[in-house]
Amino acid sequence: MSDPTDLRLVATARPRPTGVVLVDAHVVDVVAGTSAPGAVWVRDGAIAALGSRDEVRAAAGDTPTESLDGAYLAPGLINMHTHFSLALPGERGRYVTGLDDAGIALHMADGARRALLAGITTVRCVAERDHVDITLRQAIRRGEALGPDMFTAGQGLVCTGGHGHGSGSTLECDGPDAFARGVRTQIKAGADLIKVMISGGIAGEHEGIATPQLTDAEMAAVISTAHAWGRKVTAHAGPAEVIERAVRLGLDCVEHGYELTPEVTALMAESGTALVPTLVVTRCGEFFDELGVPRWMQERSLGAGERHVQSYRMALDAGVEVLVGSDMPPFWLFEGTSAIVREMEHMSSFGLGPVATLQAGTIGPARWLGAGDRTGSIEVGKQADLVAMDRDPLRDTAHLRGIRWVMKHGEIVRDDRRAVAA
Ligand SMILES: [Zn+2]
Repeated sequence: MSDPTDLRLVATARPRPTGVVLVDAHVVDVVAGTSAPGAVWVRDGAIAALGSRDEVRAAAGDTPTESLDGAYLAPGLINMHTHFSLALPGERGRYVTGLDDAGIALHMADGARRALLAGITTVRCVAERDHVDITLRQAIRRGEALGPDMFTAGQGLVCTGGHGHGSGSTLECDGPDAFARGVRTQIKAGADLIKVMISGGIAGEHEGIATPQLTDAEMAAVISTAHAWGRKVTAHAGPAEVIERAVRLGLDCVEHGYELTPEVTALMAESGTALVPTLVVTRCGEFFDELGVPRWMQERSLGAGERHVQSYRMALDAGVEVLVGSDMPPFWLFEGTSAIVREMEHMSSFGLGPVATLQAGTIGPARWLGAGDRTGSIEVGKQADLVAMDRDPLRDTAHLRGIRWVMKHGEIVRDDRRAVAA
């Protein structure tokens, strides 16, 4: 069927570009919260120069030019709460759970590709099945799979019967020694950070959101072991009392925070503990219906929505750093856009505003991940991880709905004008 010429064409179908000068753009400076007309020289995957079209063109020699037709050029988005192997109770969850090792790898690779095309150039995965996330992260690095840069926790650590147990995405531990071993097991497998479930959650029928699940000694073992190995710890956590104990033990980040109080948010702000509020998970009835999620879980989730937003506002008032994370598959088409953009719209409209929301989805996460020198903003020397849209995301978070062009490490992976199929 195919001759050697065809094979060569296939092998070079996605050549690595050596350079391009992006012109006719409004370049968003996410750190300053401003945007200005300008051009960007991308070379060898990184930003080589920024400035006026004439300056950048002169510096870039014979590098080809690409017009962005007046688009706003922003840093690629970073999603801090991702599960590519997510399996919620219900029909779709049963399908995902039923996949074998090869099947789940392909399923997760598909999610990674969709996330990148949605404009997410970096993800933080917080509990994935059977260390397939580590394999996927390496495949993306080698260019064998298309997806965002991944920082991943491996399996989440839980107590016996704890939140998310029994899915392969978690490892059950009991007692401080077992939790320390659990941390080491994830690091041995290749984890970049540690995720621990310290309270109940929405998706467990036998537990309440407020059920405390770890002793102080267990939490201390997780945090001190992870820190000794240079890894940060983030905790799935709902109630203030449990969070307060963990923050005092050195916790780096709280997921969800469904039931915060002014006291615990003040403590988090003082301790530098970040919050990934995942607001969308208590306001996603449409998504749950699509997945066939059972009634009891929907009621618990949607019923927690009001308190969840109160918690989020308390965190903002106290000055806690908030970061964008969707928990839902970030690329999921939901209420007319992707889950990550919907999450950012909620964060913005419930008090953060568009400038700080864009920072919470770009430079803030990059710094938390220790990657602030490589990504998260458009600056000379950083990776060319970029998205483009027709209207300014600093003025209105909903303008992110218009993302139509995506570049990762200098490679254009999406361009709706040319219908590039990456
Ligand atoms: Zn989650």
